Amino acid sequence: LKIVRHIADLDLDHTLKIGLVPTMGAFHEGHLHLMRKARSETKTVVVSLFVNPTQFAPGEDFDRYPRDEERDAALAEANGVDVLFAPTVEDVYPRRTTSVHVGGVATRWEGAHRPGHFDGVATVVCKLFNIVSPHVAYFGLKDFQQCAVIKQMVEDLDVPVKLSFEETIRESDGLALSSRNVYLNEELRPTAPELYRQLGLVKDEIHSGTPVDQAIEVARANLTALGFQVEYMAAVDPATLEPSSDVNVGLRVIAAAKLGPVRLIDNV
Ligand code: AMP
Repeated sequence: LKIVRHIADLDLDHTLKIGLVPTMGAFHEGHLHLMRKARSETKTVVVSLFVNPTQFAPGEDFDRYPRDEERDAALAEANGVDVLFAPTVEDVYPRRTTSVHVGGVATRWEGAHRPGHFDGVATVVCKLFNIVSPHVAYFGLKDFQQCAVIKQMVEDLDVPVKLSFEETIRESDGLALSSRNVYLNEELRPTAPELYRQLGLVKDEIHSGTPVDQAIEVARANLTALGFQVEYMAAVDPATLEPSSDVNVGLRVIAAAKLGPVRLIDNV
């Protein structure tokens, strides 16, 4: 028992107990930022490292997804992580009978272009929440729709966890860090930041009064001329992920585009 007489001596420990950072490994500064945030706010930091087969559509890069557990473990340790939870596929999926399907915000964009992707994400994140029982879980806003999907799942299923969404960490030229950036060869790498640059131009145009659809069409054409195959680019209501041109809702402009063999996503 501690008897406290002075306000300044109260010094209560407000840190929550368990923080979880779900990842697929191949750590970069984006992951490390989430780990450090968790470290600063929670007592025990758990990072899961699991390349989740159910969130890859057939023909996607599950087999060649970058994996380097030794390097990841060293980086996790250096950033104050207490537990690196790296289960086997058999452990996580003894069967694949039950899954979590999030409708609504999961339907469009990534959901439409990557069939089954968000069922895989929601299922594995739900399982991780049940396995680890974190007080707080940390996700990156680079995957904006993923954040919306997890938020909706947590609300709809009354999952007792607090969600924390963190800013996107970028290279100095603007390219959002991603484990998949290693697929960019020397020829494509200088073009890759154009996705973020064009999204920024859309934002500026909208702020200066250009109609949303027009600003997006210009950016889309610019990206196509630079060699991107744009899968989608849209201004959306950040809560519903439905297309919107209502600047009062705090529009998010989201995009996915292929550059050679690499699929990039970003948002502003
Ligand atoms: P991943 O390993 O790609 O599944 O990502 C694990 C977590 O890191 C997810 O919550 C991502 O949104 C987040 N993340 C990925 N890239 C970045 C980035 N550049 N900045 C911040 N967070 C990121």
